[in-house]
Amino acid sequence: MGKGFFNVPVAINEPVKSYAPGSPERDAVLEAYSTMWNSHIDVPLYINGKHITTGDTKTMSAPHDHQHVVGTYHLAEKTHVESAISTALEARHEWANLPWEQRAGIFLKAAELIAGPYRAKINAATMIAQSKTVHQAEIDAACELIDFLRFNVQFMTDIYHEQPESTSDAWNRLEYRPLEGFVYAVTPFNFTAIAGNLPACMALMGNVVVWKPSDSQIYSAKVIMDVFEEAGVPPGVINVVFGDPVMITDTIMDSPDFSGLHFTGSTFIFKELWKKIGNNIHNYKTYPRIVGETGGKDFIIAHKTANAKQVATAISRGAFEFQGQKCSAASRAYVPSNLWDEVKNYVIEDVKSFKMGSPADLENFITAVIHEGSFDKLAKYIDQAKTDSDAEIIVGGNYDKSKGYFIEPTVIVTTNPKYSTMCTELFGPVITIYVYDENAYSETLKLVDETSEYALTGAVLATDRYAIQEATKALQNCAGNFYINDKPTGAVVGQQPFGGARASGTNDKAGSALNLLRWVSPRMIKETFVTPTDYRYPFLGE
Ligand code: NAD
Repeated sequence: MGKGFFNVPVAINEPVKSYAPGSPERDAVLEAYSTMWNSHIDVPLYINGKHITTGDTKTMSAPHDHQHVVGTYHLAEKTHVESAISTALEARHEWANLPWEQRAGIFLKAAELIAGPYRAKINAATMIAQSKTVHQAEIDAACELIDFLRFNVQFMTDIYHEQPESTSDAWNRLEYRPLEGFVYAVTPFNFTAIAGNLPACMALMGNVVVWKPSDSQIYSAKVIMDVFEEAGVPPGVINVVFGDPVMITDTIMDSPDFSGLHFTGSTFIFKELWKKIGNNIHNYKTYPRIVGETGGKDFIIAHKTANAKQVATAISRGAFEFQGQKCSAASRAYVPSNLWDEVKNYVIEDVKSFKMGSPADLENFITAVIHEGSFDKLAKYIDQAKTDSDAEIIVGGNYDKSKGYFIEPTVIVTTNPKYSTMCTELFGPVITIYVYDENAYSETLKLVDETSEYALTGAVLATDRYAIQEATKALQNCAGNFYINDKPTGAVVGQQPFGGARASGTNDKAGSALNLLRWVSPRMIKETFVTPTDYRYPFLGE
């Protein structure tokens, strides 16, 4: 920027469309779904703006109908990854030197493309690839991704505005340089918005990117790339490779120019990647930035003064929307004995009223879990709960993978507050409830704090202000996103910056300036107007 201090459009959250019967958006998404369902796409690698087909392919199918193939995608060999790295580094010079308003223009345009012409397509792709209901697809693939793109432009300019003091004889300027080298985005299956945001926000700050999406999200990743291409992301700035994650990651992390990891996914994998970076640390030209948002074992604790219906609704929505596959999904709840009978009846009633099936039928609230590995893991825990003496399944507990990976929403009640499903992240439609003595609130808060290695989200429900304050303090380190009288899911960009601590991640808060700051390396420039010509200071005088 050299010819004006430009203001960017004030970011606003994209309104969520209703998809109610008769609405135009409902017709549009169902038409897009049907077209995509009945065609076959071939997804290439994206390297240097070129679509690379390798001939080594895998098929893509929908979790709710695993025999129905909707396309194929191409797998990278090591040479493709190397080419993605070198192409990114070549693109860096021009991209890093492009005035920020040009980068902003590209990503603001991407937001508007998703809000308009690509909305039905990106939602339908997310319904097919990740089995989201239309509402879950809308709040993720459309609204949250639009919000990330719009708000990040505003956060970028907020960062650029942060400047040091100057004096009349020295002008101090902070320049927010992109990282030297290239950065690596590794994204999870569960949010199309996260998949788009991780590479995009780093590119927005002037970085060049190699992006490896999840194998279970490739259909919607392709739509994201269609949008980025139409919005004008130049060749080489965001390169996409699919395939063996270990080979891809090893190739990336062996490069001396690797300068940052932007990861969202499971805790174990993140720790493995961190270890690889540590092992290679002597080879890098710069210390790589490491940002990882990972697993959770998110809680709801109700106080004896809470409203039972509100507690039940927080459980039903917080645990089961998108089949419990949100990193923020409630998966353990602590309910006081005085409310239990009421809460139990409401939750059972809710769960029994859920309809389960394909997201193409808009009456379904629950669809399939993401893949067979997840299905088998969940079935194993459910079977175990059926035989354990300290656990009881009060609703759900059935599963069927003959057509799609369907797991019935399941509520386990345990008498053991450290029961395995109170501690382990299952990432599915299963919640475990521990009923505590209504007079043992303080002890139960301690239990909440000590039960899991994670600290992502959590919620307290109470009407007593002292109880709310006690939980807020006692659970200070248990959740990066803490909710009072609400479910622990549904963070909105610009309103609730998202991320957790402990084993849940580096807590760099996606959807805020804090995250963008990780992708710049500030350079301080001091310009002195009257440069001294004599080394002697006055105190040296005789
Ligand atoms: P995952 O860890 O299986 O995969 C995430 C990414 O890592 C994928 O791209 C995958 O291909 C890649 N990967 C897998 N093994 C790898 C390896 N050995 N080396 C390099 N890359 C590898 O996670 P997932 O199942 O896609 O997503 C679910 C997980 O993500 C859950 O644990 C959830 O809590 C977490 N999550 C966290 C947040 C957050 O903000 N904290 C948000 C979304 C998801």
